[in-house]
Amino acid sequence: MPSEFDLIRQYFTRPTPSAILGVGDDAALLRVSPGMELAVSVDMLVAGRHFGEADGPGTVGHKSLAVNLSDMAAMGAVPRWATLAVALPAADEKWLRGFAGGFFGLAGKFGVELIGGDTTRGPLNICVQIMGEVPAGQALRRDGAKPGDEIWVSGTLGNAALALAHYQRRVELEHMEAAAMLPFLHLPQPRVAAGIALRGIATAAIDISDGLLADLGHILEQSGVGAEIHFENLPLHEVMRRYIGPLSPSSLPLAGAPARGVPAGIGGKAAQSGEKRDADSLREVQVVAQNCVLAGGDDYELCFAAPADRHETILDLARKLELPLTCIGRMTDTAGLRLLRAGEIMEVSAKGFDHFAA
Ligand code: ADP
Ligand code: MG
Repeated sequence: MPSEFDLIRQYFTRPTPSAILGVGDDAALLRVSPGMELAVSVDMLVAGRHFGEADGPGTVGHKSLAVNLSDMAAMGAVPRWATLAVALPAADEKWLRGFAGGFFGLAGKFGVELIGGDTTRGPLNICVQIMGEVPAGQALRRDGAKPGDEIWVSGTLGNAALALAHYQRRVELEHMEAAAMLPFLHLPQPRVAAGIALRGIATAAIDISDGLLADLGHILEQSGVGAEIHFENLPLHEVMRRYIGPLSPSSLPLAGAPARGVPAGIGGKAAQSGEKRDADSLREVQVVAQNCVLAGGDDYELCFAAPADRHETILDLARKLELPLTCIGRMTDTAGLRLLRAGEIMEVSAKGFDHFAA
């Protein structure tokens, strides 16, 4: 049986050239670069809540760091160091090898060094703290948006939630569709380069972990502004487009409505390929898809505000980053978030979407 220290040495000790002192002492020692502020964030992943039995250890290792890198991205910070506290039910070396592979694979890609942590026995639980650097005064915060600023999002929306809905049999994706969506759920790609590039351009930013409406809502609240967004402008993956149906108000239930009408699981009678879909089940699938886009968690895309005169700069940036950046609306001086679709204004509350936030 390996000891706790064997496990730490074998699976969690890697070179940490940028730290004064890494794993092995009572604390790590770091030197923050001159002129930089330290951005610090922590996220906990609980087995059964944030990941399931079916998720392989590599996925869990990747995701536990990815969600933290996404927070650095949202601050415009360069990720530098991480600590890792794990509770393990047993010294399962196969699991640890897979976990370390996923974790260090992503860490290497972003130049993050694991400089310490804690290892204990208990119900599987993973807590990663990340530290990054951002030039003094330049962090992207949630409280800087101004009326008139444009609202942008990176990538496409709702894919991870659509994959989850597929897992939970609320929609039934075809094989190739599921294969296209699952990486968004299992291997989210934090938008670190975009966050850094948006310093001095974005007036506010957040990463979308709990769904567009909820997370944009945080910017509105902290910036003291309102917003108007256009459903038609939301960037969608082609798979999502297939399920969301035609974007006319008459053919699709409105965003606010399904919260009442749709229970957490809407039964297994979602889209059946090759079979005739009756109008009701097609409608149910469209509601699920729409909720994924507006309120689905785990996207880890960036949502940010920027002055309208930076529009072209941001489009150039998108080309340079090879990452879609899409303007979805604008900030207003009227409190609240309004969703427009086909010219109609609907009051939208993110409240009804709680079952998606988990
Ligand atoms: P202490 O008893 O002082 O808390 P530990 O015995 O818990 O120290 O840990 C020994 C060293 O190993 C410390 O430097 C700690 O930061 C590091 N460490 C423990 N667990 C992990 C882990 N999962 N990942 C990275 N470093 C770890
Ligand atoms: Mg300890």
